[in-house]
Amino acid sequence: MSKGRFGKYGGQYVPEIVMPVLTELEAAYEKYKNDPEFLADLRKYYVEYAGRPTLLYYAEKLTKHYGGAKIFLKREDLLHTGAHKINNALGQVLLAKRMGKNRVIAETGAGQHGVATATVAALFGMDCKVFMGAVDMERQKLNVFRMKLLGAEVVPVTTGTSTLKDATSEAIRYWAAHIDDTHYIIGSAVGPHPYPTMVRDFQSVIGREIREQIKDEAGGRLDYLIACVGGGSNAIGTFYEFRNDKNVKKFGVEAAGRGPAVGDNAQTLSNPASRPGVLHGAYSYLAQDDDGQVIEVYSISAGLDYPGVGPEHAMFHEEGVVKYVGINDKEAIDAFQLLCREEGIIPAVESSHALAYLEKLMPNTKKDEVVVVTLSGRGDKDVQQVAKVLGEEI
Ligand SMILES: *Cc1c(COP(=O)(O)O)cnc(C)c1O
Repeated sequence: MSKGRFGKYGGQYVPEIVMPVLTELEAAYEKYKNDPEFLADLRKYYVEYAGRPTLLYYAEKLTKHYGGAKIFLKREDLLHTGAHKINNALGQVLLAKRMGKNRVIAETGAGQHGVATATVAALFGMDCKVFMGAVDMERQKLNVFRMKLLGAEVVPVTTGTSTLKDATSEAIRYWAAHIDDTHYIIGSAVGPHPYPTMVRDFQSVIGREIREQIKDEAGGRLDYLIACVGGGSNAIGTFYEFRNDKNVKKFGVEAAGRGPAVGDNAQTLSNPASRPGVLHGAYSYLAQDDDGQVIEVYSISAGLDYPGVGPEHAMFHEEGVVKYVGINDKEAIDAFQLLCREEGIIPAVESSHALAYLEKLMPNTKKDEVVVVTLSGRGDKDVQQVAKVLGEEI
């Protein structure tokens, strides 16, 4: 029972037909995860292609604005393709290559994980199919075109509500029928074992770099870490390195959307009404109604709009390792504008949820303390939507 478990969370809740591929993937990951050549290869692409290490930037004006602890930003927004998702996509495509697969597939909601997957598929000359709900394709035309430019085939999914959860089911179905040559790149620290562990390991480079960089920047002092949580990959990548450091207080910020009512937010851990259940192959917390049906969640930010959360976060929540909190749409948009004006950095709306938590945290901090916020992505993709929210014609 302990295989792929985080406390009582995680596991492999999948149809029998998928078990052989998961077993094959698990064996390959076990074989390569500590293999010096694999790790050197990954490091090479992180450095030469993605742009690692990312900066740990001292936000001096933002620090003055709040007048408390020193604020640093971990600049994942500066990576190639504009967000942390490339860390995981590169890791998984390198593993797929070693497994002898020549085709990768992915599911995508807003299109960001689809773009990251299409990017690495182009780089490694692999055939790429991205499953996307027809409704999402209509909403995210620009990302659909990006994927096509990158040589991927975007497969419209018209079952169910024609959104992410249906695209995920379709991707799994396709995978089960093409196990010989296909690897399925899951985009967050979710899904059946070994994905939550593997994705966490690929994203943990964020926290390891923070630990190194904070030595130069602040003599190693670190009091608070903040990251936003959708499926939870940038957050687990930020927190994992510090999981045993009790003096580093960790905050995972979920989307509180437009209010606490069921279906108006995407809070899976910070909502008192949420309970554990099974979603996408793992036992974790998820947004569900009284009958245990998964409900459609809402956030202004497409990347946080997911009804589940990675199983390791469920464990961290229960053990109190990380505190999970909610930030609503308005608070996120205010923080988005504040960072633009104070620092000349346009953050992703997802990352703006993490930034917005500073409003609540900073009044209780002292000047000699240090806080690091992970800026998971850049906001170019969100400018049009923010203009609309602010009532601007562009
Ligand atoms: C996808 C995305 C997220 C949410 O995903 P996690 O797996 O929770 O990290 C957050 N920020 C950005 C910029 C994203 O693209």
